[in-house]
Amino acid sequence: MTTPGLLLHGAWQQHADSAIHTVRSPYNGDSLGEIVLAHSADVDRALDIAVDAAKLWRNTPAHERTAILLKAASIADERIESLARTISSEMGKSIREARGEATRAGEIIRLSAFEGSQRYGESLPLDANLGTGFDKIGFTLPQPVGVVVAITPFNYPSLLVLHKVGPALAAGNSVILKPALAAPLTAIALAQCFLDAGLPAGVLGVLNGPGSELGSQLVADPRVNKVSFTGSTRVGEQITKTAGIKRLSLELGASSPVLVTKHADLEQAAHSITLGGYVNAGQVCIAAQRIIVEESIHDDFLAVLVPKVEAITIGDPLQDDTMVGTLVSESEAIRVEKAIQNAVADGAALITGGQRNGTLLTPAIVGDVPGDHPFAQEELFGPAVSITRARDFDHAVVLANSTQYGLGAGIFTQDHDESIRAMRDIDSGIVHINWTPLWRADLMPYGGMKSSGIGKEGVRTTVNEMTEWKTVIMHSRV
Ligand code: NAD
Repeated sequence: MTTPGLLLHGAWQQHADSAIHTVRSPYNGDSLGEIVLAHSADVDRALDIAVDAAKLWRNTPAHERTAILLKAASIADERIESLARTISSEMGKSIREARGEATRAGEIIRLSAFEGSQRYGESLPLDANLGTGFDKIGFTLPQPVGVVVAITPFNYPSLLVLHKVGPALAAGNSVILKPALAAPLTAIALAQCFLDAGLPAGVLGVLNGPGSELGSQLVADPRVNKVSFTGSTRVGEQITKTAGIKRLSLELGASSPVLVTKHADLEQAAHSITLGGYVNAGQVCIAAQRIIVEESIHDDFLAVLVPKVEAITIGDPLQDDTMVGTLVSESEAIRVEKAIQNAVADGAALITGGQRNGTLLTPAIVGDVPGDHPFAQEELFGPAVSITRARDFDHAVVLANSTQYGLGAGIFTQDHDESIRAMRDIDSGIVHINWTPLWRADLMPYGGMKSSGIGKEGVRTTVNEMTEWKTVIMHSRV
């Protein structure tokens, strides 16, 4: 598979001096295709195009925008299998997980199209304001924000691209997409769905290349009205410094807690953690990373969890029977392996897993991890969970809240009062009762507290955050 270039003004373009990057399988190093890397002049040109296209698209009636998006959704549905193979090949996720991700592509575009057609403003009860009578009419007028820059990570290369591009287009904005360099082919395939559906030239641009150069240039540029970023907290923090005064949405890192209390259904907890800790080789912002277990049921719980984790099969991502594929690169696999080894060197217990073969790492459980150890505190982004003992429920909540993050959390308990306390007291943007944080419906508000981010995604919320709610007041003649 070869790819044609940068998406500028509705066509895949490249120059004679364009730099070329080969995309390789993290499983066996095979070449999957070549992409063109953008340079600074391309960013500049893409922004000029996006400014013009934003005017065109904002003046396109919502029913026409909706029709194009619905067509793109149908095209994405027709391409599920090839999209799944692209996702799996370029970032190492198992094909069965990639099929699940690819199946959601058309659905996210459809949800976006619907929400884009539902932007009702409201009339303002101005006469309720002291000193104001019936001589004025006030209302809010929804309008697109303008040019949206969407910067995405590698781990869900279809889902996370579409959670930005779908709502941005549905709300009438032009978009420049800068996908992760580790997973550009999926983004290119998705952009093609919009082109084939008749999206006007320039409304969507795609620039591939290193984020530190292209991303920074895009984020800093005053022609951009909104930056929508999903990625690490480290880069998110840099973006807050370079963006200046423009709208920002940041979906960042996490070290998500899962509480298993003495009132838990241990079978349900173990089943859910076997998914939540290891899906996508743990490379999920809402992965179940810190398992906080009440002391009194600790041993019973591990007796149920360990055999389930040991039954997870790893291997060639494209094989149908592989449950968990590779990490995105060997350097990432080495980083996770070392984090496990460091925790063990500091006194934690390696209960199972943690053996590396290239980019593959066996699913690990690391026991007796103190809550303040870096293995619990820092985002791991790999196929391992830490087990920390809690004296009681209150101690478990303190441990849950003890990191800089607050994206997702889960609690396993059959006790009603514990559920209510958890949903109120855990500092986290999303709380699951009787499931791990690794669960998402595309229409639900989704985003973190503390260092996990600013703003919410989820299709309706994203359309809202990509809309300017202008306030209009009509005055009578005095
Ligand atoms: P990353 O932060 O390294 O890169 C994300 C994107 O930012 C890439 O496209 C990259 O090229 C670009 N980038 C890098 N430096 C930049 C800069 N200075 N300015 C602008 N853009 C820049 O993240 P990653 O390794 O691709 O993904 C993993 C991270 O993403 C994890 O921390 C994970 O938790 C986070 N993530 C968060 C969510 C969420 O919804 N909260 C979802 C998925 C992933």
